[in-house]
Amino acid sequence: MIFSSVLYLFFIGLFNTLTTHTLLSRKKSIVFCINTFVLTTIFIYIINIYAEKYIHNPVIIEYVLYLISCLYLAYIHIVFKESISKKIFAMFSIWMFSTICLVISIKIAELYSGINDIRYNLKYIYIFRECFQILLLSTNYFFISSPYKKVLSKVSNKTIGFMSLYPVFAFLLLINNYTTSIDGLKSLNFTWNMLLLLVFIILGYVFVFTGISSASRIISMQYNIEKLEWISRSDPLTGLYNRRYIMEKIESEFISTKKNAKKFSLILADIDFFKKINDTFGHDCGDHVLKVVSKSLKDAVREQDFVSRWGGEEFLILLPETEIEGARILVERIKRIIEEQIIEYNGVQVSTTMTFGVTESQDYGMIEDIIKKADNALYEGKSQGRSCIILA
Ligand code: GH3
Ligand code: MG
Ligand code: MG
Repeated sequence: MIFSSVLYLFFIGLFNTLTTHTLLSRKKSIVFCINTFVLTTIFIYIINIYAEKYIHNPVIIEYVLYLISCLYLAYIHIVFKESISKKIFAMFSIWMFSTICLVISIKIAELYSGINDIRYNLKYIYIFRECFQILLLSTNYFFISSPYKKVLSKVSNKTIGFMSLYPVFAFLLLINNYTTSIDGLKSLNFTWNMLLLLVFIILGYVFVFTGISSASRIISMQYNIEKLEWISRSDPLTGLYNRRYIMEKIESEFISTKKNAKKFSLILADIDFFKKINDTFGHDCGDHVLKVVSKSLKDAVREQDFVSRWGGEEFLILLPETEIEGARILVERIKRIIEEQIIEYNGVQVSTTMTFGVTESQDYGMIEDIIKKADNALYEGKSQGRSCIILA
C-alpha cells in the first residue's frame, strides 16, 4: 500500500513536472527536465514521509503537502524566464490542471466500481488520474503550450498579477472542498456540484484566455500600424527619415516658428565624389558607405533634430529652435567626424568627405525658398572645391 502510494506520488510528480515543462519551457533538453523532476520529486516525498511521521492530522498533512509543492515554483523559476507574477499564474494553472484530473478520476472511479468509498477506489483513482495526466500532457504539447506562452508573453505583469487571483481562488476552492482530507472526500456528494464547479473553472479559463487573446490581437494590430507608419516615413536603406516625412516636419516647424518666433536651421549635406566610390569599390560598398555615414549623422545630432535622406547621397538635417550659429558649430563637428572616419567593407578601407549648405529659417517666404537657399549654398560649396561648409 505504501509502495503503491509512493509510486503514485512519484507519477504525479513526474506528470506535473512534464506538464510544466511542455507548457512553459523554451528549452528542449529532456535531460534537464528529468534531472529537475527527480530532484523536486525526491525532495517533496522525503518531506512528505516525514510529515506523515510527525504530523498526525491528515488535514494539516494535506496543507503541508501543498505548501511543499510550492517547490514547483522553483522548477518553474528555472524553466520559465518570465516575471514572478507570471510564474505564480503558471504555477496555479498547473496545480489546477492536476487537481481537475484528480477530481474527475475520483468521480470516474466511483462510477466504475459502483462503490462510494475513496479507500476502496484508491487503486482506480490512481489509474484514472495517470490516464488523465497523460492525456493532459499530450494536449498541452499539441494544443495548449504555444497559445499559452503567446498569451503570457503579450500580457502585462499587472494584468497577469490580477488574473492570478482567478486560478488561485479556483484552486483553493477545489482543494478546500474536495481534497483537504480523505475523510472529507468520503463525505462528498459529488455528481452535480462537482461538475458545476469544473464547468465554472474551465469556462473561467476560457474567458480569461479569450479576453487576453483578443487584447493581444489588438496589441499586435497596433504594432502593425506602428510598423506601417515607420515604413511610410523612413528610408529602407539607411533607416533615416525619408523626404516625404522631413517635408512634413519642416512644414510643422515652419508654422511653429511663425507662432513662437524661434528660428530653425537646415543643413543640406552631400557626399563628395560618391560616384567614384561606386565605380571603384562597387555598388554594394557604396550602399555600405551610405549606411555608415547615415548612422554617423544620426549619432552626431541632438535628440530633437531630424536627419533625413533627401536623395541618393544627399542628406537634409532639420535643427528645430536652432539659429545658424548653433548649426555651424554642429556642422563643423559632423564634417570632422565624417573626414576622420575610415569605413571598412570586405577588406577595403574607404574614407570620404562631405560638403554642407547651411541656412536658417526666414520670417517671410516659403519653405521651398529656405530649402533652395541651402541647396544653393551646397552647390557653391561644390564649386569651391568640396569638403567645406557654406552658410547662407
Ligand atoms: P559630387 O562630389 O559632385 O557630389 O559628386 P558625386 O559623385 O558624389 O555626385 P553624383 O551626383 O555625380 O553621383 C552620385 C552617385 O550616387 C550616382 C548614383 O549612382 C549614386 N547613388 C545614388 N543612390 C545610391 C544608392 O542608394 N546606393 C549607391 N551605392 N549609390 C547610389
Ligand atoms: Mg555627391
Ligand atoms: Mg548629390
